[in-house]
Amino acid sequence: MKPPKFDYHAPKSVDDALALLERYGGDAKILAGGQSLMPLLNFRLSRPAALVDLNRIPSLAYIKEVDGRVSLGAMTRQRAIEFSPVVKDRLPLLREATRWVGHLPIRTRGTIGGSIAHADPSAEYPAVLTALEGEVVTRSPRGERVIKAADLFQTYLTTNLEADEVVVEVRLPAMPAGAGYALEEFARRHGDFAIIGIAAMVVRDGPRCKSARLATAGAGPVPLRLRAAEEILERDGLGESAIEAAARRASELVSPDSDIHASSDYRRHLTGVLTRRALTRALGVARG
Ligand SMILES: Cc1cc2nc3c(=O)[nH]c(=O)nc-3n(C[C@H](O)[C@H](O)[C@H](O)COP(=O)(O)OP(=O)(O)OC[C@H]3O[C@@H](n4cnc5c(N)ncnc54)[C@H](O)[C@@H]3O)c2cc1C
Repeated sequence: MKPPKFDYHAPKSVDDALALLERYGGDAKILAGGQSLMPLLNFRLSRPAALVDLNRIPSLAYIKEVDGRVSLGAMTRQRAIEFSPVVKDRLPLLREATRWVGHLPIRTRGTIGGSIAHADPSAEYPAVLTALEGEVVTRSPRGERVIKAADLFQTYLTTNLEADEVVVEVRLPAMPAGAGYALEEFARRHGDFAIIGIAAMVVRDGPRCKSARLATAGAGPVPLRLRAAEEILERDGLGESAIEAAARRASELVSPDSDIHASSDYRRHLTGVLTRRALTRALGVARG
């Protein structure tokens, strides 16, 4: 199918993009990599009056580290993230997650801002943003807003972004040196969205766990932080029995919906299995 007719605009600045969004009063859609939006248009699941294409605003694509924080422009392509030395050194969990995102042509067009704004519950970037307590910076006619990951995702494919609000930057605290990390995922075929994904980070201090981070993809309408499972590790350390207990707790913390891909019980079971695997692998690369 082809999309219904729409106006097309390619502004050269964020200010111009904001003016266009305001002009259409909520009936325009932002176009980033188009990897999620174009299928929605072609299936006529979305029928905006206009597209506001951000691809002619080069100032929205960058990766930089400032004061222990990595800032990524919203239009930074997933492929640029995959090969960024800054991401490799300071956000290796994000790098690992990127390799699970679709296939090469999708990552070549898809952007970090688009992936987060689209808020697919099975997507990897929202899980990493949640695990690492990142935030997004937005602009709208009302000014700039900084939204924490915990406040951003509302339900399936829904964030608290307004229709005239543009994500301009994604910010993630740099991971502590020596932190262990892993993203474990199960999908029927490589490149498919995850049935379940688990993003994990552990910071160790000998046998003790200074801090643990666990977040899900695919285990509910939004990415979930598994705080009660993290607490087990922070209290009991990183031995096999603590990892086992944390994995068990993780599966109790989620109540996923059933769908054509997997039942709720199966997703819950996978949450435990993948939490154990992610923690074991994270521990394997942790130093300190
Ligand atoms: C075959 C296939 C497999 C895929 N597999 C995966 C996968 O395994 N994991 C995964 O995470 N993703 C997967 N994707 C999706 C892909 O990662 C997309 O790139 C991503 O979801 C959306 O990013 P985009 O830049 O293409 O955004 P677009 O498709 O252009 O936009 C998506 C939505 O976000 C909004 N938006 C975009 N940018 C902004 C912004 N700066 N501010 C506010 N709103 C904005 C748009 O208006 C739209 O509603 C897959 C896609 C395909 C086609």
